[in-house]
Amino acid sequence: MSDVKSIEPLALQVQGLSYSYGEGRIVLSGIEFNVAHGERVAVVGPSGAGKSTLLMHLNGLLPDRLPDDSERASVVVSNIAVRKSSVAEVRRLVGFVFQDPDDQLFCPTVREDVGFGPLNLKLPREEVFQRIAHSLDQVGLAGFENRSTLQLSTGERKRVCLAGVLACQPSVLVLDEPFANLDPRARRSLVDILREFAGAQVIATHDLDFVVELCDRVIILDDGEIRADGSVRDVLSDGVLIAKHGLEVPWRLRTEG
Ligand code: ADP
Repeated sequence: MSDVKSIEPLALQVQGLSYSYGEGRIVLSGIEFNVAHGERVAVVGPSGAGKSTLLMHLNGLLPDRLPDDSERASVVVSNIAVRKSSVAEVRRLVGFVFQDPDDQLFCPTVREDVGFGPLNLKLPREEVFQRIAHSLDQVGLAGFENRSTLQLSTGERKRVCLAGVLACQPSVLVLDEPFANLDPRARRSLVDILREFAGAQVIATHDLDFVVELCDRVIILDDGEIRADGSVRDVLSDGVLIAKHGLEVPWRLRTEG
């Protein structure tokens, strides 16, 4: 049993990660990358490339293939190997924001939804209330505690999801298509919130202009393999490379000329 070894403090280490759903075709193959503390990494690529599947591995959301204690772990979060025995601890460290708020919100009120994670952490009641208020304030929804999650806009619902994750104070944020279905003002406010978050972030998105604005690094994933991994500017201004993977040079890099 040999896990990925840390030579420097890293938020995430992924090594030799391959995956297929059931007996189906291979969806991820030989994935390797590290994410440093505080680093913001975008994962881009065409639909069906494996981005969501990769993200789900980062906090053990695909339990069928979680390794036992005797098996090699392909994902390590802050030196904790992601295994069946550690998945609860890993989920405390890695906050996952789903693409569709319907996959995440399930309580009648905003307060209950945002407080669900902290309550699960068995925090004292007073601290739970403080965290709810603080994280709603962080996402610009102060005072929304008593609102029904069903009567909010898509942007507000996404922000409630993010507040619920932030209330658990994760060290890594993983976001699947956070900008999808948001109007320009909601996108802008989300960028500002993500900029404020000091921990590492892994963001799957089709919105390359926001990648240029927000991220330090970008990984191109296509057909389950990493095709490029480098600085946003180097990778996304390479028109030939990114066209091969169904992407276009983002407007922000084109206009820099
Ligand atoms: P992306 O996020 O890049 O669009 P996904 O990770 O969602 O890609 O999907 C990668 C591949 O895995 C696709 O071929 C998709 O059809 C398949 N897939 C995704 N989820 C499942 C599932 N629950 N069962 C079987 N196949 C799946």
